[in-house]
Amino acid sequence: MRGVGRKLERNGEVAVAIRQHKLIEHADIRRMLLAQKSYTEGALALNLYCAKLVDEERAARAAGDAVARERATLLLDILTPIAKSWPSQWCLEANNLAIQVHGGYGYTREYNVEQFYRDNRLNPIHEGTHGIHGLDLLGRKVMMKDGTALGIVSETVRAGVIRALATRDAELHEYAHALSIVMGGLTLVTQRLWEAGDPTLTLANASVYLEAFGHIVLAWIWLEQAIAELPELKQLDETFKPPSLGTDADATKMRVEWRQLRNRTVNDPTVQAAKAFAQAARTDLEKRNRLRDYYNIYYQRMSALTTNAEIKLALEGFKTGHQVTLAQPRVRPTPPGSPTPVPPPAQKKQAHKHKKNKLKK
Ligand SMILES: Cc1cc2nc3c(=O)[nH]c(=O)nc-3n(C[C@H](O)[C@H](O)[C@H](O)COP(=O)(O)OP(=O)(O)OC[C@H]3O[C@@H](n4cnc5c(N)ncnc54)[C@H](O)[C@@H]3O)c2cc1C
Repeated sequence: MRGVGRKLERNGEVAVAIRQHKLIEHADIRRMLLAQKSYTEGALALNLYCAKLVDEERAARAAGDAVARERATLLLDILTPIAKSWPSQWCLEANNLAIQVHGGYGYTREYNVEQFYRDNRLNPIHEGTHGIHGLDLLGRKVMMKDGTALGIVSETVRAGVIRALATRDAELHEYAHALSIVMGGLTLVTQRLWEAGDPTLTLANASVYLEAFGHIVLAWIWLEQAIAELPELKQLDETFKPPSLGTDADATKMRVEWRQLRNRTVNDPTVQAAKAFAQAARTDLEKRNRLRDYYNIYYQRMSALTTNAEIKLALEGFKTGHQVTLAQPRVRPTPPGSPTPVPPPAQKKQAHKHKKNKLKK
């Protein structure tokens, strides 16, 4: 990042702008970046949770489990307006903050953030407008089956709160308590809104209600992520390892990946320098030694660019293959009085065939 913006530091008694800092070093920039991260990753997690509910619904149907099926269906129904509107509204805000982080540059077309903002401005319209999602949530979803769906949301959030409180993490306890209080508040507000006895008055609050509901759901989604026990990265790699498409396909895939790594490495200045150094060798032995170093550097660079263990192994194999060819051939002097060496049979045959062809012509 560019070095811009002078940071205020204390110099004796006075706060003064001392030196230029990178944008990322300013607390306000970090605040905006973290807000973007929490909006976008929270929205993604919510939609993945909804996708999981679709799977749970199908699995329960296949297993003939009516209770589990109804739970998944109702939860999915009530979360749908949130899953559509919260990301549309807040990920657009993330784009807005991205422009702000770039300052004046963010507003110009030279950087893609303004394009992201313009593109994503469509989402709160074509995904269904907030007004309509708010009406759907407050007017229909929270009321359906006498509030059963809202009850399921409340139960699910409370289960997360209980799990967070069971951990030894004091920070998580704080978040869990705060979430528990606002979830209780949401249930109360829903009751009060409908107590008015005038649907027009009740629904006048629909958009604000949608936003409040959305924030609570997202707070719960983040709490779930904080208490989730994450598997090791290696374990995840193993779980999501793509199945083999056959030996030929695997070899082709490996070759493609190797070529991509090679293209990214071949112009590396260190690799080029090692190659030039080897080519400038004055003796054959010196050249062999320098080429050995060159192959070491070249394959190390490629290996550092990938996390794929199989590719790393293959690269090690390629390196060994290259280095084997550098071994000095054993040349022994012929002892005196040895018989004159005869050419091997294959060579003789070749010579004979060649002669025959010549005669044919
Ligand atoms: C690029 C693009 C792609 C699209 N793609 C699709 C698609 O693939 N499939 C599809 O079905 N639709 C699609 N749409 C249409 C989209 O669903 C509608 O634009 C959207 O539902 C809003 O409707 P509208 O534009 O008629 O606005 P209007 O209905 O005129 O709404 C204007 C404003 O008034 C508010 N409003 C309207 N009625 C009420 C009400 N009863 N109570 C309170 N407030 C209200 C709205 O919330 C909005 O803020 C697309 C739209 C665009 C722009």
